[in-house]
Amino acid sequence: MSTQESNAGSRARAVETIAVLGAGTMGHGIAQVAAAAGYKVILRDVDREALTRGIQAIERNLQKGIERAKLTEEDRDQTLQRIRGAVQLAETAAADLFIEAAPEALDIKRDILRQVEEVARGPFVFASNTSSLSITELARAARSPETVVGMHFFNPVHIMRLVEIVRGQDTSEETVQTAREVGRKMKKEPITVRDVPGFASSRLGVALGLEAMRMLEQGVASARDIDTAMELGYNHPMGPLRLTDLVGLDVRLAIAEYLHAELSSETFRPPEILRRMVGEGKLGKKAGEGFYKWDD
Ligand code: NAD
Repeated sequence: MSTQESNAGSRARAVETIAVLGAGTMGHGIAQVAAAAGYKVILRDVDREALTRGIQAIERNLQKGIERAKLTEEDRDQTLQRIRGAVQLAETAAADLFIEAAPEALDIKRDILRQVEEVARGPFVFASNTSSLSITELARAARSPETVVGMHFFNPVHIMRLVEIVRGQDTSEETVQTAREVGRKMKKEPITVRDVPGFASSRLGVALGLEAMRMLEQGVASARDIDTAMELGYNHPMGPLRLTDLVGLDVRLAIAEYLHAELSSETFRPPEILRRMVGEGKLGKKAGEGFYKWDD
């Protein structure tokens, strides 16, 4: 792996081949945008069926792109040609950048990092798509913690434009610039964030969502009117309560509990209404009911 100048004037490593580890909701999306950006992609999942589902999801996304006249058939074919599926980690050995999108557990991600160190043929950057775990903690498992960074994409990856680049305590400037450069080539807007709980996006987004719930609890306004305040008054594409329904109230509760403990801030104390609704199974869209009723 050689180095090249990045747009920011700092040095980024040249990346040709990206291994995406995990072909689930996030992994297949990351593989798609990486291949569309011209990288050679190896999409690896331990579960062959998950890998097949991931590749089929990419094919469906690209087909929709053609139907909406955003892509040509040639774009689709070229993107698909750049993606190779793999079950064995050894098949990813040639990658310069590994992006892991495996389940959200520090042990799993550390094991993956150690295994990558065993198989990788040359120097590499290891990026984690974790939405909450500490990059510094993850990097403690690495022989070269300076090459470990966060690349936090958003769902659905092919549509959402943000990528949060998370700088761990030991992450080198070169590693940060490499992740930023790759993010930009994937047509994402990278922001760089220090490794703190909730990074930037979850901390702000969850704070707004919890305050909206407290307002609902206090009878300040209806769920719809609270959401409309943000949609029309602040140009948010979606109000915080509707967004919570899409994310899942259980997921939001777990993040709020984590941030409340880690940041010792009352802002993140989960409101009673959130605990009650999760207890009643009103988990949002996936359960058919949350702050709204979802009938389909
Ligand atoms: P998912 O459950 O949809 O997919 C995870 C995949 O990883 C599964 O297919 C599983 O078979 C595979 N896997 C398990 N162990 C593996 C290994 N050792 N090597 C390779 N693959 C392995 O999960 P997801 O929703 O895509 O989340 C992945 C990561 O992205 C998590 O860290 C999550 O916190 C983060 N994230 C998720 C979202 C979201 O909206 N879903 C958003 C941002 C970040």
